[in-house]
Amino acid sequence: MRESVVVGNWKMHKTIAESIRLVTELKGLLSGKRDTVTVVAPPFTALNSVSIALQNSHLKLAAQNVHQAAQGAYTGEISASMLLDAGCSYVILGHSERRLYFAETNDTVNKKLRLALDEGLAPIMCIGERQEERDAGRTEEVLTIQLTEGLKGLRVQNLAPLIVAYEPVWAIGTGKNATPELAQEAHATIRKHLGDMFGSVFANGLRILYGGSVNAENIPGYVDLPDLDGVLVGGASLNSESFAKIVTSFD
Ligand code: PEP
Repeated sequence: MRESVVVGNWKMHKTIAESIRLVTELKGLLSGKRDTVTVVAPPFTALNSVSIALQNSHLKLAAQNVHQAAQGAYTGEISASMLLDAGCSYVILGHSERRLYFAETNDTVNKKLRLALDEGLAPIMCIGERQEERDAGRTEEVLTIQLTEGLKGLRVQNLAPLIVAYEPVWAIGTGKNATPELAQEAHATIRKHLGDMFGSVFANGLRILYGGSVNAENIPGYVDLPDLDGVLVGGASLNSESFAKIVTSFD
């Protein structure tokens, strides 16, 4: 039985005061609910304040990115040990916005994954096809390349903390969510490919999340899909009531 995971990616939204307000509301709305692993990913500036606000709750903290080096002369970057120090236990890696606007590649994602795992941060690895790739019938090929290159050289015994998020690029922030059938098909493809790479025991235990225009209205369509173990939520995670409704759908 895989534990469900719901992650809120706040992207570049919320000041420190707004972040504290949002998690305080969430703590109230989700008190006593413990079946679903619930993770929030505020901007870097709010991580430590949110970590303090989350004390004595079951909510967990994620960063939205990490640098691939352990430390050094990388002006403007943040290391895994800094994220751990700020209270993070997860990190989102390879989000399509990072791939699109910040030139992240499967190779960069691979380096960041290795570092995150080495330092004790659980990686939430994002993969997904663009609209033109889907239209060209290349979805399976794109997903398998992202997995093969992103997880290259990693050993199955180190991969237990890994979470994969299937996020079709055309569904992110567009209001055009993938149908549950389409999400299930992609998740099954991902599980099968990871079974080929790392064996069926690992693949059957892996949590695979769907992300792309999930909200409190469309979430019921996803919760019972056999290969879906939770969701990664952008826009709808900025509102405490919407996000709490999404979380409790999995309880
Ligand atoms: C995301 O940014 O990971 C995401 C899924 O965004 P949205 O829910 O807004 O589509």
